[in-house]
Formats: sequence, structure tokens, C-alpha cells
Amino acid sequence: MMSQTHILVASALLAKPGQKLRNTAVLIGAFIPDAAIYSLFFWSKIRGIDENKVWNELYWQEPWQTYTAAGNSIFLYLALMLIGAIAMRNAPAAHRIGVFAMFLALAALTHLAADLPVHVDDAHRHLWPLSDWKFISPVSYWDPGHHGTAFSIFEALLGVVLCVILLRRFESWLVRVPLILLVAAYVLVPLYFTLQLGGA
Ligand SMILES: [Zn+2]
Repeated sequence: MMSQTHILVASALLAKPGQKLRNTAVLIGAFIPDAAIYSLFFWSKIRGIDENKVWNELYWQEPWQTYTAAGNSIFLYLALMLIGAIAMRNAPAAHRIGVFAMFLALAALTHLAADLPVHVDDAHRHLWPLSDWKFISPVSYWDPGHHGTAFSIFEALLGVVLCVILLRRFESWLVRVPLILLVAAYVLVPLYFTLQLGGA
């Protein structure tokens, strides 16, 4: 799914008003599996590499395949949950680290769970480094050849619903304004890729 959906799903499930540490961990955890892809995007921009080459070639090569597999590995987050659970049983300072690790891992796992049913050719190796197994879904969250158009519409509607849930939960406009900007990404990101890749 798109990054903003992951942030909205994890926040709707795990974020609570007034719990800054927990909420920060949720935001980071929801995003981290996509961090390698954003790094590739910004790195390629700095290098001035054509975007068709980035997504058709570089993304599929090393080291980017390993970076994305690592960020999408279920074992990484299960280990982090274990560390978090142990730390949470200890003194206040360790407890805070434990809460952070636990909610970061939980949010990242919601990201993996949401991605699993909607990746086809770009499926992630969720069992890396133990196995290179991939679940190849019949549905893609973006590829029109695999129901991507219908799913994109569903995903944007889901995003709006989750945004409304969160707007009702959080009264601060410091939270509400970024939430509304996340929903704008459902229009802006596809528009960007249409112009960028279509016009090249
Ligand atoms: Zn993802």
C-alpha cells in the first residue's frame, strides 16, 4: 500500500492522544519498511538518474533488494518486540525504551500485514534472511494489470475513513493538519508518477 495508508492504519490501531513517545514510535514504525524505497528515490534524484531506470532497474538490483528485504522482514520486528517486552519490565528509563521498541515493532508489523495481500511482481521477502519466499498476490495496490486501479480507489476511500477516525480522536490541529495532508497524497502521488513516468 501507499506509505500514507500505512501511517493511517497504524495510527488508527495504535495511536492515543497525549502519548507522545508511543505515537512517535507508531509513526516511525509504520514508515520504516518503506524507508529503503524513499532512500533510493532521493539518492537517485541527487545523482540525477532517470526515474524509469530507478524503478525498472536499480530497485531490482543490489544493494536495494537487500535493503527492502531487511526493512520488510517479520523477524526484525519480532526481535524488536521481544527486546521491547523485556525492557518494559524494567526501571523507568528502560521501560520507556521498551514502549518505544514495542510500538515501533507493532506499527511495522501492521505495515507488513497490509502489504502482504497487495503485492504481485514487487512482493517482499517477509521471511528474509531465513528464506527468500514471497507471497505473490493476484492483487496489486498499484498495477492496473492486477486490479490496481480498483484497489487504488478502495485504498483512497479507506484512507479518508481512517483520517476521519483520527480527526475525531485528536483535537490538536498540530495533528489534524498533517492528517489532512496525508489524504492529499492520494491525489498528489499518482499525479506525480503519471507526469514523471508518462512524460519521459
Ligand atoms: Zn510497504
